[in-house]
Amino acid sequence: SDHRPLIVVPGRMHPRVLARLPGDFEMVQLDAADPTLVTPDLAARAAGIATTNRLPADFLAAFETVEIVANFSVGYDGIDVDAAAARGVVVTNTPDVLNEEVADTAIALLLNSLRRFPAAEAYLRAGHWAEKGPFPLTPLSLRDRTIGIYGLGRIGQAIAKRLEGFGVPIGYHTRSKREDVAYTYYPSLKAMAEEVDTLISIVPGSDETRHTLNAEIFQALGPRGVVINVGRGSTLDEAALAAALKDGTIAAAGLDVFENEPHVPQALIALENATLLPHVASASEDTRNAMADLVVDNLKSWFATGAALTPVPETPFRRKG
Ligand code: NDP
Repeated sequence: SDHRPLIVVPGRMHPRVLARLPGDFEMVQLDAADPTLVTPDLAARAAGIATTNRLPADFLAAFETVEIVANFSVGYDGIDVDAAAARGVVVTNTPDVLNEEVADTAIALLLNSLRRFPAAEAYLRAGHWAEKGPFPLTPLSLRDRTIGIYGLGRIGQAIAKRLEGFGVPIGYHTRSKREDVAYTYYPSLKAMAEEVDTLISIVPGSDETRHTLNAEIFQALGPRGVVINVGRGSTLDEAALAAALKDGTIAAAGLDVFENEPHVPQALIALENATLLPHVASASEDTRNAMADLVVDNLKSWFATGAALTPVPETPFRRKG
């Protein structure tokens, strides 16, 4: 019989994870993280789960012997981490290997939102440059802006480092002030929105951050305001944003993440001052390969040494026995 630990992979997974797992593990793929798909054999034998930010409590509860959930994503708002912690199941994520890529994307989205480069390229490709003359001057520029970063963790700091090179004042809001940075600290998101004109959100999705980017914050930012979201869609009230962009409460927004992906509200698609990307912040081949390797290496390390490489703080467990 096969003595390799059995790993269940529900739903979509990066091909490199699927290619590497069978070297050290028995692997079973399921269509989705749906408890009705878990056979008695899987329930009794599965030792781990590899997933792409989706693990409802009822799916985890279907397994008797799962020890580890390896998540292909640094954000784990789709994993019921409380349910895992209550059962002593370790959850791992993919921190750090994507910091620079995601920060690059945040800067690209910021510049595109201000200077309308995607619209300018579309103008060229449509033949308008030759027919109608130069693309319209952009009313917005990074030159005179003050940036507030909402979330100054691993990725937020990589974004701030890049912005230093652009010569713009930088502030941030987190729950606890960092002693290792010189950026202006704001104890509340509202206080920051009142002082800056440009918000970049890179906080995790959570009950606490849900819809914290809302009408009140857009009002505080004001008519020159620009909002960039590369964190999670749930942080931003999309209906309130569409209204604020339409009536000029703020000037522009750039979004990589949405509340109900892959569905993007038509109210946002209809707006010229919204720059919209399909959740591509980490989506280069190299960075996604590094994330895939970290998923597999967490599983290998757990079963070989008894410790995961990158457990999330809520599940600081070691393997029993
Ligand atoms: P970290 O855990 O390193 O940083 C999170 C930061 O957010 C910390 O500074 C934390 O500070 C702050 N924060 C958390 N909760 C709150 C809150 N309620 N109010 C204010 N600040 C808060 O995470 P990473 O930088 O590695 O990643 C951040 C998030 O980015 C991920 O969780 C993920 O959702 C998203 N992401 C999106 C990607 C994309 O493809 N678009 C790619 C990668 C990540 P404090 O605890 O002091 O509040």
